[in-house]
Amino acid sequence: MTNPAPILHTMQSLEAAWDVSSAMLGGAGHIERLAQRRLRELIAFARASSPFYRQLYRRLPEDEATLAHLPVVTKHDLMAHFDAVLTDRDLTRKSIGQFIADPQRVGQALHDRYAVWTSSGSTGEPGIFVHDEHALAVYEALELIRFRGLTSPATLAAACLTGDRFALVAATGGHFAGHATAERLRWAYPWLTENVRVFSILQSTAELASQLDDYQPTLLATYPTAASLLAEEQNAGRLAIGPREIWSGGERLSDAQRAQIGRAFGCTVRDGYGASEFLSIAWDCGHGSLHINADWVVLEPIDAAGRAVPPGVPSHSVLLTNLANRVQPLIRYDLGDSVTLLEEPCECGSAFPAMRVEGRCDDVLVLRDVSGRAVKLLPLALMTVLEDEADVYRFQVLQASDTSLVLRLDPQRVETAAVQRCQHALGRYLRAQGVPNVSLAIEQRGLEAHPVSGKLRRVVVLSANSRATVGANAAGTG
Ligand SMILES: [Zn+2]
Repeated sequence: MTNPAPILHTMQSLEAAWDVSSAMLGGAGHIERLAQRRLRELIAFARASSPFYRQLYRRLPEDEATLAHLPVVTKHDLMAHFDAVLTDRDLTRKSIGQFIADPQRVGQALHDRYAVWTSSGSTGEPGIFVHDEHALAVYEALELIRFRGLTSPATLAAACLTGDRFALVAATGGHFAGHATAERLRWAYPWLTENVRVFSILQSTAELASQLDDYQPTLLATYPTAASLLAEEQNAGRLAIGPREIWSGGERLSDAQRAQIGRAFGCTVRDGYGASEFLSIAWDCGHGSLHINADWVVLEPIDAAGRAVPPGVPSHSVLLTNLANRVQPLIRYDLGDSVTLLEEPCECGSAFPAMRVEGRCDDVLVLRDVSGRAVKLLPLALMTVLEDEADVYRFQVLQASDTSLVLRLDPQRVETAAVQRCQHALGRYLRAQGVPNVSLAIEQRGLEAHPVSGKLRRVVVLSANSRATVGANAAGTG
């Protein structure tokens, strides 16, 4: 059995903190040189230690270290060749599968030194990502020093001792990156236990508001759609919290959402961009841009044909290279998000490249209960219900009216049992939300990807025009 102890390696944390702080003192050229050196080392390491990359790069010259010459890898490739991708031969899909099957182990270390995060990803295929202790130290330093502007874990300690209470409102019940990271912090810094709490996004809004009211967080992190919903609760007097800052991530934060949330709570809203593949890709400087942590992660925006996209143009997808993690190398990994690199330098003066996230945009559904009261359902909650309870990842939930939903499933990938699981899971969820009157039709038909980003928007409010074409051949269940 592995030890449930936290991943805590002081020397690595200090070294990562030094690397992250000192890179900020150099200019863009310095950041570029750091990234190039780390990239050469990563490629050499992957060739030497990962059977998958050794095979993938077998026809390339030994010293090839130019990203543009390397093949792209997808989540499907990595999951299909899981064991061969890993560079620690003691790790296997089987042992990792046992670890993630145990919800008690969320946030704990596998083999004393690895974090394991799972994701379904917005492109629909579940993923399992393993991060080593060095990568975790880098993510932590990036969060503390660049995002939070703290100089060391001691500053965080001081903040907690002066009464900061951190709340994460997110998907729980699995080894998701956000939840697992919060649990890891609690293991690593026991004095944080009372000051770091995770709240499930799957419960009803009333229940969530009541729990947050009791806790009174000073820092609240969640998805933009969830923060918007809480802002409305606050405006309506059903929630009364006074956070110092709200941190958003996991979905695109629109300017309108930022303003609405900031007004409701009278506080700063700061956005971040991260993924299960790299926890802290970019941070919000407070001047309207996200800055890429380009010394530790390389982003290459591409068009639908895989060609590089210039600054100012929204990409079809983006390739990610993680320069911090060696145990499961990600080199030119297709992340699936649409992003735009900004043409103009940011007014904050940072040497780190500025960007905007276009992808990850889903609708909040507003339904009516029997008395006509509006009930909101969050996209992430609906997705989690279908993924966790029905084990279905490729779907679209379409709102056709105030009281009717259509669940569209890909007929090529879904068997009858899965259709029944979806019916039961969504039925239970709608009852729990107080809208058992909402009808649910299941339609087996090809899914429609977003025309700009190519991503699948999985929770969508239909426009009046598109309503007529939906549900015509659906089997009604409500
Ligand atoms: Zn900036």
